[in-house]
Amino acid sequence: MEIPAIAGGKPVRESKLFYGHQYIDEADIQAVCDVLRSDYLTCGPKVTELEEKLCRLTGAKYAVVCSNGTAALHIAALAAGVKEGDEVITSPITFAASANCALYCGAKPVFADINPNTYNIDPACVEKLINEHTKAVVAVDYTGQAVELAQLKKMCHEKGITLIVDGAHAIGTSYDGQMEGSIADMTTFSFHPVKTVTCGEGGAVLTNDEKLYKRLLLFRAHGITRDPELLEKESHGSWYYEQIDLGYNYRLTDMQCALLISQLDKLPMFKARRSEIVKKYNEAFGKMPELFVQQEIPESDTTRHLYILRIRPELLKIDRKGFFEALAAENICCNVHYIPVYWHPYYEKLGYRKGLCPNAEKLYTEMLSLPLYYSLTDKDVDDVIMAVEKIVSYYRK
Ligand SMILES: *Cc1c(COP(=O)(O)O)cnc(C)c1O
Repeated sequence: MEIPAIAGGKPVRESKLFYGHQYIDEADIQAVCDVLRSDYLTCGPKVTELEEKLCRLTGAKYAVVCSNGTAALHIAALAAGVKEGDEVITSPITFAASANCALYCGAKPVFADINPNTYNIDPACVEKLINEHTKAVVAVDYTGQAVELAQLKKMCHEKGITLIVDGAHAIGTSYDGQMEGSIADMTTFSFHPVKTVTCGEGGAVLTNDEKLYKRLLLFRAHGITRDPELLEKESHGSWYYEQIDLGYNYRLTDMQCALLISQLDKLPMFKARRSEIVKKYNEAFGKMPELFVQQEIPESDTTRHLYILRIRPELLKIDRKGFFEALAAENICCNVHYIPVYWHPYYEKLGYRKGLCPNAEKLYTEMLSLPLYYSLTDKDVDDVIMAVEKIVSYYRK
């Protein structure tokens, strides 16, 4: 039997593989340089061009691009009218920003447990938590797989609650034939370099609702407007504008917009390669009883952002930490997405306690994220599989 590197054997590969990496080509570089030679570095034509492109891609009526995915969640919560005294339901298995957006507005994040097989928020758990204070649900398309949108949408609309999808992982995913971005009241994206398409830092909110769209525009830029329909006083002249709410400067530069416009051309290629890699991982790991493969829902045609390797600790002599370290010794450098949000000290100080969402907590102790990105070679993927097989067979009970 092959001995894992951590137990004194030779690593499966010499160079390190990380869990994510951007892919930038010459067209991307050219697009950014063209903007640098143009008149507008921000508030220019690339902003509208990107917003129109996102609308075409998703089928949504309106897009508002902004400085990052966290800003997108913040303005989405503000547009939904989230304020002090309100509650916002979200998943604990997400990046903290999905819950922080409620705190930014003075509201209380409420955590609904996940489905133990798909890892997405469980609509039945959401339903139990809805009360007269619930203002919004922030449902996360975890790993890129769409949440159970049909149930969530019906439930939220019946109760007058705004459904926000945190689609940071899910650009290019569709649900029941409809593109993510055009289904919920609002959908947010992130364009951080580990996400499927990137512009360094960037985000967007998509919606079909004109009222929400106008509010998103307002909160992106200081709460300032020139829209004659929104002005509260009489105009002084064509230069006139008013600050009618407290907004932020969450704008995206034209350099970033140009980069993302160029990146979006490669989205189908990125999606196809990510799917190929997922298929190879699933085939290899599906044969091993010591591992559990994430369940896919048939409605979701997924652009996969993360690949979750989940171990069954009861069948192994090592735990997740041991597995993570054994993989690192093979030069497969993983990550863990995510620590349950309410386990963080800040949330603990707000009064949240362990034990709130048992399925999420169990998943956290059993999972890690394997390398998954466009430029992984077949050899890289084989190395990852070999390393996992080596560790499982050595530590099998
Ligand atoms: C990345 C991410 C965010 C935040 O996006 P930024 O662009 O980094 O601000 C929010 N939610 C989820 C689920 C994410 O993965």
